[in-house]
Amino acid sequence: MRRFDCPSCGHEVFFANTACLNCGTALVYAPGRGFLPSTDGDGFCANRAAIGCNWAAESAEGLCLSCQHTQVVPDLTVPGNAERWARLEAAKRPVIRALHHLRLPLADAQGQPAPVFKLKGDPLGAGAPKVMTGHDNGTITLNIAEADDAERAALRESLGEPYRTLTGHFRHEVAHHYWQVLAEGNPAQLDSLRAVFGDERQDYAAALEAHYRDGPPADWASHFISAYASAHPWEDFAETWAHVMHLLEGLETARAFGLVPGDLPLDLPDLAALPMARLAEVWAALSVALNAVNQAMGHETFYPFVLTPPVVAKMEAVRRLILGT
Ligand SMILES: [Zn+2]
Ligand SMILES: [Zn+2]
Ligand SMILES: [Zn+2]
Repeated sequence: MRRFDCPSCGHEVFFANTACLNCGTALVYAPGRGFLPSTDGDGFCANRAAIGCNWAAESAEGLCLSCQHTQVVPDLTVPGNAERWARLEAAKRPVIRALHHLRLPLADAQGQPAPVFKLKGDPLGAGAPKVMTGHDNGTITLNIAEADDAERAALRESLGEPYRTLTGHFRHEVAHHYWQVLAEGNPAQLDSLRAVFGDERQDYAAALEAHYRDGPPADWASHFISAYASAHPWEDFAETWAHVMHLLEGLETARAFGLVPGDLPLDLPDLAALPMARLAEVWAALSVALNAVNQAMGHETFYPFVLTPPVVAKMEAVRRLILGT
């Protein structure tokens, strides 16, 4: 994330702020233009009052570039759901911002927002099927229980995951959408992805079943960014894509605060133009330091992953897919 200034007084403001803490000016963010001066609520996203969305209205319905991708919002008559929705959208906005800056398509052939998100809670009836988080043909469903810290921590524990965040979910699930949009129907692109991720035509359901039954291969950490990535080439791709986004947005933020070498570019697209080997080298140095800082503070590990050469090669393939080169 970049650093931003209040358009009224110049004091530093942060991406999620709805008002400048120095002068009180109401803030409205427009992707690509930063924070704009706003008068009398002009141009606010229609969800501003409900969930504290601080983005500018863009659609005919008065929704911002991020909110217009949400097709289903949680049942707001259920206590706590308004807060869960707000937390999910707050995690989604930086993800949409990055996709916008990287010039990835955010509309389908008919000009409709794509991908679309359905944010749903489990039905209340006993025995009713649970809402599964996942991607299906451009639609990303998220179980809103993930917005509860205790629930997410329990799942992280039971699934043996070292890192589980809402932002990570959004980055992972949009990856499945972009595989479909950028690679399917493009034989050359599919060939180069298969060369690093393997053949995705192997039975997906059977592969996932085997993963949950037998666990990952013993040497998964040499070849995959996470144990789950070893389940199927699609999951390897989605996990790897998510980490490319973690690195790009993490490095953009670190660069803005002077935590990485000053010869690194400031803007996300310029960062994405650097070879993955270079990005991974800077990221490794930064994450070793931040892991130690977090440990000193008693926090969880900042980045509990190892970028082995095969993983960096996969990340390079994702980077090239994003750039279209
Ligand atoms: Zn101000
Ligand atoms: Zn909005
Ligand atoms: Zn997935």
